[in-house]
Amino acid sequence: MMNFNQAHRIAYSGNDALLPKPIRSTASLGQSARAVCLTFDDGPDPVYTPAILDVLAAYNAKATFFVLGEAAETYPQLVERIVAEGHSIGNHTYSHPHPWFTSEEIAKEEVEKTSHIIHQITGIRPRWFRPPYGRLRIPMRRQAALNNMETVLWNHSIIDWGMLGNASGIRSRLSRIKAGDIVLMHDGQREHNRPDNLLRYLPGFLASLPGKELNTRSLDDLYGFL
Ligand SMILES: [Zn+2]
Repeated sequence: MMNFNQAHRIAYSGNDALLPKPIRSTASLGQSARAVCLTFDDGPDPVYTPAILDVLAAYNAKATFFVLGEAAETYPQLVERIVAEGHSIGNHTYSHPHPWFTSEEIAKEEVEKTSHIIHQITGIRPRWFRPPYGRLRIPMRRQAALNNMETVLWNHSIIDWGMLGNASGIRSRLSRIKAGDIVLMHDGQREHNRPDNLLRYLPGFLASLPGKELNTRSLDDLYGFL
């Protein structure tokens, strides 16, 4: 079994060439053979985060929530609930700036402020970072490494937003989730996200997992932090 610390946790020395590679799937983890890693971005949201947490609890499913600092500050009780129900929490920046236009200074502010807010609410320093739009720009990756977080992307997007985020498209992409996938979904309503459509098919998808011998695991659980 791959040792997470050997594989990923390289102390950042200031050399960008040594920045750890982002995690895109968990297929390389021997222990994760039948695991899928569901991730929800852009929350917490006062309507959809509780609804999604209820569905996850009904199927005893575990996930990872990449929260926005701004929303976490507004809805701290939802951040507490995410952690209390056994899910992992990640940092998705404070206000979701586009990394392409983000200076060193803004990246530091956006990332550090969010980790601080999460720590204030939960007592946990987040270990996982996802840049807005999944864009890998050096200032954000560097700041994540400086704050001892792994950058986590995905290998399977449900595309629960915009024109493709209609209910039938979401259902079909949920049905194609396989072992080792890190799955991108959204509980937050920002921009064109459609957590309403996602919620229509999330229960059926979770109900289908035992038949496929798949189970859901949080990032903390998969990487041995629980
Ligand atoms: Zn986002």
